[in-house]
Amino acid sequence: MTQRVALLGKPLRRRHSQVMHDAAFAAAGIDARYELLELEPEVVPAAVEAAHGPEWLGLGVTAPYKPVVARLVDVVEADARMIGAVNNVVRTDDGRLVGINTDAPGFRAAVEQTLGRPLAGLDAVVAGAGGAAHAVVFALLTGGARRVTIGNRTPAAATALAERFSSVGGGAVIAVGLEEPAFAAGVRSADLAVNATTVGMLYPGVTMPVELLPSTATVFDLVYVPPETPLLAAARARGLRAANGSEMLIAQGAIAFERWTGVGGMAGVMRAAVAPLLADPSAVA
Ligand code: NAP
Repeated sequence: MTQRVALLGKPLRRRHSQVMHDAAFAAAGIDARYELLELEPEVVPAAVEAAHGPEWLGLGVTAPYKPVVARLVDVVEADARMIGAVNNVVRTDDGRLVGINTDAPGFRAAVEQTLGRPLAGLDAVVAGAGGAAHAVVFALLTGGARRVTIGNRTPAAATALAERFSSVGGGAVIAVGLEEPAFAAGVRSADLAVNATTVGMLYPGVTMPVELLPSTATVFDLVYVPPETPLLAAARARGLRAANGSEMLIAQGAIAFERWTGVGGMAGVMRAAVAPLLADPSAVA
């Protein structure tokens, strides 16, 4: 029986996950395929229900279905519940569907690789307060960051995010508007600056004043299409260490793959498989 994983979302413009997981299934000798299911909202409950079947390893979940799927699975793991988003679902041997979040550990793995050190003790600034920013701030706080300044275009969303994680980790969390002086103050003292907005992907521009960052700061942009955002270009022009979101994509995919199959160590296979797509200048944002 060919086993199945399907990515649920609408629209599904990208094939990156499919390419990574199908390469990993082939390399691991597992008879399975990763499908793209672009679904209307009214059929999402039936698709999740069907994934209880024995041929299913699990599901991938992307916008706009992360919150909906969290309500449809049998169990949501504690971290995913705290973050408020399920981006993958694992079918257990006894047929239960477990909602998990691999964005937070994927971010942590990728950013620690970029930094060359653990997150503990870092002063971080994060632009954004959407789903990805929730995973980023959770990873920073559970990783022991000393201070996290969250700036968002809509300040109320930053405040809600900070309140959600007020008891996570021991670090201080500051929530402000992107244009407020307190955000610029956070940028001035940051060891790590993270863009977790769609700016640079869907819109041109940058979310923070790169010229204020310390010369020792690292810039991490979750966007990976295009590979070089204006933020990353500005950081590199200043000689700062900078990385896009491709390693986070790969790391979170490898974590999900291991949860579905028990087979770890697939990041290298995934990286090689997705490299042509990541380098494709015509890839769709
Ligand atoms: P989301 O939930 O829709 O949140 C979007 C965020 O972007 C919000 O904070 C929003 O601010 C902000 N924003 C949108 N347009 C803006 C503008 N013109 N100026 C300033 N801020 C703006 O999206 P998401 O799921 O968090 O994803 C955010 C980004 O992370 C996307 O580019 C996504 O591709 C990327 N991502 C990458 C990975 C990876 O593995 N590399 C994983 C997950 C996500 P408001 O609250 O004011 O609207």
